[in-house]
Amino acid sequence: MSRTDMSHNDELTQLTGGTALASDAWLDRYGDALMNTFGRPQRVLVRGEGCYVWDADGRRYLDMLGGLAVNALGHAHPLLVSAVTSQLATLGHVSNFFASPPQIALAERLLELLRPDVAGPASTARPADDVSDAAGRGTGPGTGRVFFTNSGTEANEAAFKIARRTGRTKVVAADGGFHGRTMGALAMTGKASIREPFEPLPGGVVHVPFADVDALRAAVDDETAAVVLEPVQGEAGVVPAPDGYLAAARQVTQEHGALLIIDEVQTGIGRVGHWFAHSADGVVPDVVTVAKGLGGGIPIGACIGLGEAADLLGPGSHGTTFGGNPVAAVAGLAVLHAIERDNLLDNVRTVGRHLADGVHALEHPLVDRVRGRGLLLGIGLTREVAPQVAAAALDAGIIVNPVNAGTIRLAPPLVLSTAQAEEFLAALPKVLDAVHATAEEADG
Ligand SMILES: *Cc1c(COP(=O)(O)O)cnc(C)c1O
Repeated sequence: MSRTDMSHNDELTQLTGGTALASDAWLDRYGDALMNTFGRPQRVLVRGEGCYVWDADGRRYLDMLGGLAVNALGHAHPLLVSAVTSQLATLGHVSNFFASPPQIALAERLLELLRPDVAGPASTARPADDVSDAAGRGTGPGTGRVFFTNSGTEANEAAFKIARRTGRTKVVAADGGFHGRTMGALAMTGKASIREPFEPLPGGVVHVPFADVDALRAAVDDETAAVVLEPVQGEAGVVPAPDGYLAAARQVTQEHGALLIIDEVQTGIGRVGHWFAHSADGVVPDVVTVAKGLGGGIPIGACIGLGEAADLLGPGSHGTTFGGNPVAAVAGLAVLHAIERDNLLDNVRTVGRHLADGVHALEHPLVDRVRGRGLLLGIGLTREVAPQVAAAALDAGIIVNPVNAGTIRLAPPLVLSTAQAEEFLAALPKVLDAVHATAEEADG
C-alpha cells in the first residue's frame, strides 16, 4: 500500500472505530448518528479498485452505478490518487482572496472543451441518435468564464443568480427535471413532491412538459430570463431529449433574449461519450453546469458562463469558501486528462452501445427498452419492479440503481471495459428471471 504511510493508517483505522465490524453493525450505528434522509443504506462499502467495490463483509461488487455518475475513473485510479495527494501535500486550500494554478488551469481547460470544434468530435463514429454539426458555432477562447462550486446544486444556484442578473425573473424549466436540493435549484426542479414541502421557494419559475417544443414556445416570452434543461433527464429515469429539442430551445431563447442554461451535472464530462451531451446537438448555450463526474469523486462543480452570460456575476454578487479549492481543481484536471489520454470518450460510446445492445439481445420479458446515451443508460422494465431487480442484482454482486419503479439506471465508471460489461450482461438474466418468477407468482 503506497497510499498512505502505514503508521498513519493505524491511526486512521482507530478513528473509524476499527475495520472488523460487519455491515449490519455499521448500519445500526449509521441509523443512530445520521439524519434519515436516505433511508437505510444497503451496504457499508470499505474499499474500491477500478470498477469494483468491497463491502464490510468482504463481498465484491461490480459497480455499475459509479457513485451515481461520479466515479468517472473508477475507484482508486492511480492518476487521481497521485494528483490529489501531491496537491494536498503541496497546498491544500487557499481562500478566494488568493488564486491557485490548478483552479486557473481547470477553468481554462473547461472553456477549451466547450469550444465547438473541440466539443463536437467530428472524426469519431457517433450513434445514430447523436448527430452533431460542429460548423458555425461561435464560442472561442476568452468568451467564457467559470465559477467553481462544490456540488451540482450549487452550480445551478449560481446559474439561477446569473438568470436574475439579466433583470428578468421568469425561468422556464421542465417537468421531471432535476437540478438539486437547495432552494433555488429546488425551485427549478420539476418534481412537485420534493418541491412542495419547502414552498415558498424563490419565485418566477414555471414548468412545462419536457420534450414538447410547442409548450416551450408558448411559455417563453420577453419576460423570460432563462430556460433551464437537461440533455438527458437522469433522475426522471434516463429520458433523453429528442433530436432537435435543445436546438429549438436555443432558437426560442434567442428570439426572446433569454438565456439557455444546460444542466450537465449528470450528463457532462464524458458520461454520454462526448465531453458534454449538448455538444452533439449543435447548440451553444449561455450557461453550462457540471459537477458529478468532474472530480472523479472529489467534490467539485462548475457554473460556466459563455458569451455575455460570463460577465453577469461580478464582484460582490456571488461567492463560496471552498469553490475552486486546489485539491478539487487538480482532481478535475486529472479526470479530464485521463479521459483524453485514455480515449475514454470512445470507450464510453463503444461499451455503452455494447451494454444497450446486450440488454436488448436478452429479449427478456421484464425488459422493455433501453434508453439513454453512452454510459448513462436506463433499462425500462415491463413491470414496476426496479427496486426488486436492484436488490437481486446486489445479492448477485452488482450495483445498479432503481431510479424509479420501472427503470434501472446504469452510470458505471467511464473506464468500464467490454469484459466488465459482459460480466454484467452474463449476470443479468438470472437476476431478471428471479424477479420475473416472483412477479408472475404474485399475479397468480
Ligand atoms: C445530481 C444532479 C444535480 C444535483 O447535484 P448535487 O451535487 O447532488 O447537488 C443537479 N442536476 C442534475 C442534472 C443532477 O443529476
